[in-house]
Amino acid sequence: MPQTTCCIVGGGPAGIMTGYLLARSGVRVTVLEKHKDFFRDFRGDTVHPSTLQLFDELGLLEEFLKIQHQEMATVGARFGEYSFTVGDFRHLPTRCKFIALMPQWDLLNFLAERGRQFPSFDLRMEHEATGLLTADGRVTGVAVQTPSGRVQITADLVIGCDGRHSVIRQAAGMRVNELGVPIDVLWFRISRKATDPESALGNVNYGKVLILINRGEYFQSGLIIRKGSFDQLRQNGLEDFRGDIARIAPFLADRGCELNDWDQIKLLTVQINRLERWHQLGLLCIGDAAHAMSPAGGVGINLAVQDAVAAANLLARPLRERIVTEDLLARVQERREFPARVTQRLQTFAHRGIAKIFENPGPAKAPWQLRAVVNTPGFKRLLVRAVGLGVRPEHIRPKPE
Ligand SMILES: Cc1cc2nc3c(=O)[nH]c(=O)nc-3n(C[C@H](O)[C@H](O)[C@H](O)COP(=O)(O)OP(=O)(O)OC[C@H]3O[C@@H](n4cnc5c(N)ncnc54)[C@H](O)[C@@H]3O)c2cc1C
Repeated sequence: MPQTTCCIVGGGPAGIMTGYLLARSGVRVTVLEKHKDFFRDFRGDTVHPSTLQLFDELGLLEEFLKIQHQEMATVGARFGEYSFTVGDFRHLPTRCKFIALMPQWDLLNFLAERGRQFPSFDLRMEHEATGLLTADGRVTGVAVQTPSGRVQITADLVIGCDGRHSVIRQAAGMRVNELGVPIDVLWFRISRKATDPESALGNVNYGKVLILINRGEYFQSGLIIRKGSFDQLRQNGLEDFRGDIARIAPFLADRGCELNDWDQIKLLTVQINRLERWHQLGLLCIGDAAHAMSPAGGVGINLAVQDAVAAANLLARPLRERIVTEDLLARVQERREFPARVTQRLQTFAHRGIAKIFENPGPAKAPWQLRAVVNTPGFKRLLVRAVGLGVRPEHIRPKPE
């Protein structure tokens, strides 16, 4: 039976970063990823200043920024005819004062390659965890489906980083608290012209919200819809959908024809939830597996990475010495639950605002409250800190000798 010290289930931002950091500290770590590569549908492209700061602390920043990316230093929005700047990252006390926009697979490939430089890092692709192994009330490993059959991997600690549909948390019978969400998002690409606005991220009009992330040649676009209304939209037809896009962002009217099949449009069922307890004896969950995030603010990747840093800081040494207690796992939750809670509360607040927008199908007019808030410099700074740095940012501990 294969054995490791720490078995991480899921090669997303939380799993790969935890694997990298533990291997860097000399812990024998096996990361299981069910897909054969990291190339997947769009799952967020934002690498925030807090994550870039961590790369700087790891000495990886220069190399990382050589990967093709765009730098977003300011975030703009349009509410009806009213355009405003939502946030300006140039004031942040970080080395990089921008969000790096980069496909998530580039981030994961980068970290996986760096991880492979450590002899104790073992990343296994096409390895899907199907359940947990237990003995005497303790999690002792993972049952895994591989291309060549089933295997069991035993470990001192299993870390569930398998995202919001986590098999691990389900197998462990962990209780999940759902926070209601009134929205879903439809993601698609639409080409971009040099004459298009640079940073028109949020566009509100006619009872709808259209997110446009400038990716150079194209906009990664997200239409926020009322939860559960996708079937109705499909019944209304693509012509209506294209019409909606053109009405909200008239500069895109000539490109609606690019959307000619519903297969180009992916539904993200937005969830916000949180585990009551993130750990059991021999098991810890972090990232979306512990607290599924809404795409609001584009912070999920960064929270997952912060969880990874906190877990590695608290657990690397005990794992090396093979003395991981449940108290230590509880400390990871103590450290990271507060940031997850605060961020989810902000996201819930944002959802409520969006749900109000759905109520007015006519031309949107920016309310005076919005104008007042966005012109309050203190508010903008706070928002930029919450998004760019997050609550209680983590730092890399020096590598052990
Ligand atoms: C459409 C969409 C858009 C988003 N936009 C943004 C954004 O712009 N910015 C942002 O910061 N966040 C965004 N998010 C949220 C962000 O993707 C997540 O919060 C973040 O990826 C969480 O990281 P994670 O590592 O915890 O989980 P995930 O990224 O979900 O990674 C989980 C990994 O586990 C693997 N896995 C699952 N089950 C198993 C199993 N049984 N065995 C082995 N492997 C398994 C999966 O294949 C996956 O690689 C978006 C999410 C979606 C879906």
